Amino acid sequence: MITPVMPTYARWDVAVDHGEGCWLYAEDGRKFLDFTSGIAVTGLGHCHPHLVEAVTTQAKRLWHVSNLFRIPGQERLAQRLVDNSFADTVFFGNSGAEACELALKVARKYQHETGHPERYRIIGCEGSFHGRSFATLAAAGNERYLEGFGPPMDGFDHVAFGNLNEMRAAIGSETAAIIVEPVQGEGGVRPGTDAYLRGLRAIADEFGLMLIFDEVQSGMGRTGKLFAYQWSGVTPDIMSIAKALGGGFPIGACLATERAAVGMGPGTHGSTFGGNPLAVAAGNAVLDVMLAPGFFDQVEATARAFRGRLEELVRSYPKLFAELRGTGLLLGIRCVVPAGDFVTRLRQNGLLALTAGDNVLRLLPPLVVSEAELASGMDILHKVAREWSA
Ligand SMILES: *Cc1c(COP(=O)(O)O)cnc(C)c1O
Repeated sequence: MITPVMPTYARWDVAVDHGEGCWLYAEDGRKFLDFTSGIAVTGLGHCHPHLVEAVTTQAKRLWHVSNLFRIPGQERLAQRLVDNSFADTVFFGNSGAEACELALKVARKYQHETGHPERYRIIGCEGSFHGRSFATLAAAGNERYLEGFGPPMDGFDHVAFGNLNEMRAAIGSETAAIIVEPVQGEGGVRPGTDAYLRGLRAIADEFGLMLIFDEVQSGMGRTGKLFAYQWSGVTPDIMSIAKALGGGFPIGACLATERAAVGMGPGTHGSTFGGNPLAVAAGNAVLDVMLAPGFFDQVEATARAFRGRLEELVRSYPKLFAELRGTGLLLGIRCVVPAGDFVTRLRQNGLLALTAGDNVLRLLPPLVVSEAELASGMDILHKVAREWSA
């Protein structure tokens, strides 16, 4: 008999009760060190006091009014994202998929408005992930996720991630845009090099294409800067963010330059919930913490320390691990042994971690993880690796 909750997930045997910082507590009393961060969402840890305060205060004032109204908190959050990115304008939705979906719409609309209505095709990369809606599934082209849902939506082409020659060759007279994750998350924690991102920018400019960066996972501090593209200095025309933007409250956003958003006037897009007062209170509270002086210095220092220790782990167990990948606190270990089984063992020992494509063990500790918590995590990783080897 089907479960009341539609059985679309293979869930862990952990019934959660509450969380605090890097720690997650189950109903049965078990305590876990959480290096999943709700899949890159709770970047500031569980129940960060400033977020709790901001959301509870807002909950007593006003939750939702619809976008028929001016929402001052939404205007403020948009202004702060504009001030701290390449973008001139922001649309708020509720998830990463919606943010990516709008990014694709903005790109097509730009071409339509600037004399190229025939340009509608979008080039995506193999190994990417952009969400579970029809358009975002088609953009990523992962056959495992498309299987059984009918013909994939038309208008998407795919090339190998990291390959500029293939990208160039895939461009035709109907191409409107390129969509890329600066660091592929779900696909196996693969960073694009600075040269690759620079190359994409040059190709987009040469052919009059929109360059879309999907920073749903890599954005909001995960790599040690607010956005991953800031490491390379290469700016997109359009960018999707979500995951850590609300610190656990559902909110996503599509950012764009004024030039890219040329066609996005009244009536061209909308969302009932998007950017409601409660959601933007969470988003603003996240930015309060992340934009405070020194925050990213701390994240960078933490990431450097963690990386060093993981490199040592990988070196120590060559029969278990093949290589360390990633950037900042978006890190993965490509495993020799099955990554999923290793993650299960870690969980049995009190450390929560994820997998990603390419047999990768993915580690996403909260950005606020302490030295002592990193050490505890490393102890568990070493213990499980030692026991596995024995
Ligand atoms: C998680 C993710 C998405 C989809 O986000 P949802 O909120 O699950 O719709 C899109 N792109 C990337 C890069 C992601 O990691």
